[in-house]
Amino acid sequence: MDQKQVNQIEQNLLEVQQRITAAAAKSGRDENQIQLIAITKYVGNDEIGCLLDLGCTKLGESRPQQLWDKAAFFADQSVDWHMIGNLQRNKAKRTVPLVSLLHSGNSIRLLKTVNDLASPTEPLHVLLEVNVSGDEAKHGFTAEQLPEVMQQVLELSNIRVKGLMGMAARDGDNDQARRNFSTLRQLRDQFRENSPENVQLDELSMGMSRDFEIAIEEGATMVRVGSGLFKEL
Ligand SMILES: *Cc1c(COP(=O)(O)O)cnc(C)c1O
Repeated sequence: MDQKQVNQIEQNLLEVQQRITAAAAKSGRDENQIQLIAITKYVGNDEIGCLLDLGCTKLGESRPQQLWDKAAFFADQSVDWHMIGNLQRNKAKRTVPLVSLLHSGNSIRLLKTVNDLASPTEPLHVLLEVNVSGDEAKHGFTAEQLPEVMQQVLELSNIRVKGLMGMAARDGDNDQARRNFSTLRQLRDQFRENSPENVQLDELSMGMSRDFEIAIEEGATMVRVGSGLFKEL
């Protein structure tokens, strides 16, 4: 990468951070309660190295193989890797030890698999992915399934459920996104009331480049921003 590209990434990051600050202020929230997860699935190691140099160290990947490769490349640096995409169970074994948070806890079978791969001393932190938009192509539990999921999670003592993850409808407008995010927050609030011991629903992972400000206004604690960080490169 040339210096111009390095500067561009720095500028993009600054802009995203400023937009996070502004959205937090607008909704009367503390910006420190909102974590930026930089989604690096579109870029290679040069761009990632640039982000790390800028102090952006919470990185997300949606494909296991890419996460493995990039995590191996940056093994000697301090990076929090987040798995945000669908995790096939046969790829869980290599993935679980690498990630600080699995955003895409989207089936009981997967949760059982990762529970077996984690341990009491190194429990895996997971979010339950909820399909709040109802898009057919999306993974995730339905709202109706959540009570049963909470029951089942009680038995999975090697995982710690930290919150919920969701996405706005693919073809929706801003109002639709807001409704989807609001639904996710309401589900979080509802289940937080009487959740089992290994379930603490503090986190709400929602919002991407096109809608993260709306997500923050609706209570997101983690925004997953990819293309916005790497535009005009
Ligand atoms: C790719 C991806 C993102 C980031 O999307 P951008 O629009 O590039 O910001 C966020 N969440 C998930 C689950 C993704 O797959």
